[in-house]
Amino acid sequence: MALSDKISRQVGSIPRSGIRDFFELVVGRDDVISLGVGEPDFSSPWHIREAAIYSLEKGETSYTSNLGLEKLRRGISAYVDEHFGVRYEPKTEILVTVGVSEALDLACRALIDPGDEVIYHEPCYVSYNPSVTLAYGVPVPVVASSDDAFAVRAESIEKAITPRSKVLMLNFPTNPTGGTMTRAELEAIAELCIANDLIVFTDEIYSELVYDDDYEHVSIAALPGMRERTVLFHGFSKAFAMTGFRLGYSCAPPELTEAMMKIHQYSMLCAPMTSQVAAIEALANGAPSVAKMRASYKARRDLIVREFNAMGLPCHLPKGAFYAFPEIRGSGLSSKDFATGLLEGQSVAAVPGDAFGPSGEGFLRCCYATDIDLIKKALGGFRAFLSDIKG
Ligand code: PLP
Repeated sequence: MALSDKISRQVGSIPRSGIRDFFELVVGRDDVISLGVGEPDFSSPWHIREAAIYSLEKGETSYTSNLGLEKLRRGISAYVDEHFGVRYEPKTEILVTVGVSEALDLACRALIDPGDEVIYHEPCYVSYNPSVTLAYGVPVPVVASSDDAFAVRAESIEKAITPRSKVLMLNFPTNPTGGTMTRAELEAIAELCIANDLIVFTDEIYSELVYDDDYEHVSIAALPGMRERTVLFHGFSKAFAMTGFRLGYSCAPPELTEAMMKIHQYSMLCAPMTSQVAAIEALANGAPSVAKMRASYKARRDLIVREFNAMGLPCHLPKGAFYAFPEIRGSGLSSKDFATGLLEGQSVAAVPGDAFGPSGEGFLRCCYATDIDLIKKALGGFRAFLSDIKG
């Protein structure tokens, strides 16, 4: 039997990430300006790196508790309380993980039985659909359309609910659209979840990166009746520019945390100690660095969105995250053809919108956590590409 026939059916059934596929075209090309990768262009703030270095100097190189260092869990509890207005018990309700990525996988495996349906809004982060499939669940996408500024309507979710629905996954601000939800919109969804006994996964990884005074970020976990049915995911990758530290966490009632911890203790054991020590420092003293980075992203957001609209690529002003999601349908090209043409003709890389689900077709994801001069050059490349197409 060929080795490829020995791969499990679940793994065989999921595609490779559309982002990876596209970026293989870029590997080894130093001339390319990339708006592709979804990570901060800043290094982790120095005081955070210093805490990690000092911890290594002291020889803190062991395993930690499966749940994570207690000092970190206490810090997370205080931070989440202050940031979202929900209180979690550090000893039983917080699990430190290897990024939000691991927390998401653990939650799927801890809660989903074969055939259980998981509803999520699309376009969405590339991991959601495969994480559900790998846990033998059934992914049920609901479109969050550009007409609604990429918010998801309670009516759309309601239509997708069946007797097999078990989990609703939310991510606001959203990767790849920057979409956000108001408190009132979330309240309507919370009501549905309570009425239909749904568990909610809320991925709050971009919650610090919101830019407008008229928008207050609310987590669904903080709404009445939701804490007891919600798993809140958060981490250090985006706001604290700590992607390489690979550190995240989940907050959830003790029964759910215990179930996730059982998988984590056998598969991961614990998150790296150095990263946990760095995270303690990030929570204690990182707020000024986060504020500085946020101000810098806001200036870049304003520039890129203004320019896309000016060149005839309609682009809504995302209130959060660090992605612009311009519509490229007017060019007459598919997302993939547009992205490939832009790369080949202008050496500018952006991700085809359909990498985030079929409803992303007609759009491109452009990460503006990129040096502002490079963003300006990339925008020049877009303009030149559009005028080439028009001939
Ligand atoms: N969730 C969303 C919505 C993301 O965009 C990403 C990374 O791009 C992740 C989770 C992964 O985060 P982490 O680095 O904490 O694993």
